[in-house]
Amino acid sequence: MTPRYRPVKGTRDFFPPETERWAAAEAVCREIFRARGFGEIRTPILEHTELFARSVGETTDIVHKEMYTFPDRRGRSLTLRPENTAGVVRAVIEKGIATGPMPLRLYYFGPQFRYERPQAGRYREFRQIGAELFGVAGPAAEAELLEMLFAFLKSLGFVNLSVSVNSVGTAATRAAFSEALRRHLEPAAAEFSEEDQRRLTENPLRLFESKDPAVASRLADAPKTRDFLDEDSRRHHSEVRRLLADAGIPCEEDPALVRGLDYYTRTVFEVVSKDLGAQDAILGGGRYDNLVESLGGPPLPAIGFAIGEDRLLQVAPFLLPARGLVLVLPQGPEQLQDALLLAGEVRRAAPGSSVEVDLLARGFKKGLSRAGLLYEEAAARGYDRDRMFAVLLGADEKAAGAVTWKNLATGDQETFPRSELPRRFGAGRET
Ligand code: AMP
Repeated sequence: MTPRYRPVKGTRDFFPPETERWAAAEAVCREIFRARGFGEIRTPILEHTELFARSVGETTDIVHKEMYTFPDRRGRSLTLRPENTAGVVRAVIEKGIATGPMPLRLYYFGPQFRYERPQAGRYREFRQIGAELFGVAGPAAEAELLEMLFAFLKSLGFVNLSVSVNSVGTAATRAAFSEALRRHLEPAAAEFSEEDQRRLTENPLRLFESKDPAVASRLADAPKTRDFLDEDSRRHHSEVRRLLADAGIPCEEDPALVRGLDYYTRTVFEVVSKDLGAQDAILGGGRYDNLVESLGGPPLPAIGFAIGEDRLLQVAPFLLPARGLVLVLPQGPEQLQDALLLAGEVRRAAPGSSVEVDLLARGFKKGLSRAGLLYEEAAARGYDRDRMFAVLLGADEKAAGAVTWKNLATGDQETFPRSELPRRFGAGRET
């Protein structure tokens, strides 16, 4: 059957057990973030377009060509959020907590939308997990945030990741660096694509996003941000490096790291996994000391990161712990009602297992044949083969106050009093 409706290009559906893997990773994440005093914020998926133009930056690829922007019924320009920091900052200012007690620690989970060319690890609807720490200008903020990030990555089984760091300095650094880049690249501009020429005129920093090898080779010997750092930024950066080394966080200096959003100041960082191919980062982040004020709030230093959850789960080594499965099979419709009660007893006896009743009451033969299929597919479905059972409830069992169970791994079948379920499943768990 050809489906009549297709999902929107670049969007995906998720099914079990993948959804369970996502939920498990998110549960671990929440625990780790909460343990450091971060609380969850949820902001709307829809914001006024102007918010992103002001924060992410007019000349960035995101604002220039990747946003899902449309007029609402009254002609106001709205945008599906392409990232979450702008929304968080807007919310924090609006609620008045930007002037409240500091530091303020927040995290979010949620879908983001960018009209990009879909390819491996790149989607039009993708999900990010992010954290924002407000009110700390000193390098302890970087240390706390990166320690938290690595605790999370470690808990997902990553061992060899390292963070690339750079400092982009202050607004003055950015201006001087942009100008130097422009001077360095202008003689070669004729070789560049129309788009890269536009970048060169509007905002040369954006050329770091270009995929053109001619641009990349010109950038290789271009001036570096660190040549333009002011004394305070320089000191800040070396303290960040020292704190990260003390915390045992593997990090590498990357003088060419200039992140794709306009609001960064001083520290920027990125974690790239080799498993994702050439240039795909699992996460990125940085300090944005001027953003709160430029969006109408008080002067408030801040730093944050956003993890691309789709990519993270694609490469994270952790496996979902397998679950037990118990299929409660009524012999026919007459046993169905009692089977529902029996399922409750089994759930209490076998916590952590999925207990399903054959609601269609198709009889033992069909029920067991489905059980066999599920056993065959146990690995793909996330079941633990040593904890897979069918529990049969027929007229004979009912009369005797008994049940029959079948161990799907061994095929062994045994009838015993229903009151023995807790002991039997307890023993089943030990094997
Ligand atoms: P950014 O908000 O651009 O700093 O991106 C932070 C992280 O989000 C990146 O490192 C990616 O892991 C992820 N990300 C960004 N864009 C996409 C996309 N189109 N599809 C999947 N993940 C993305």
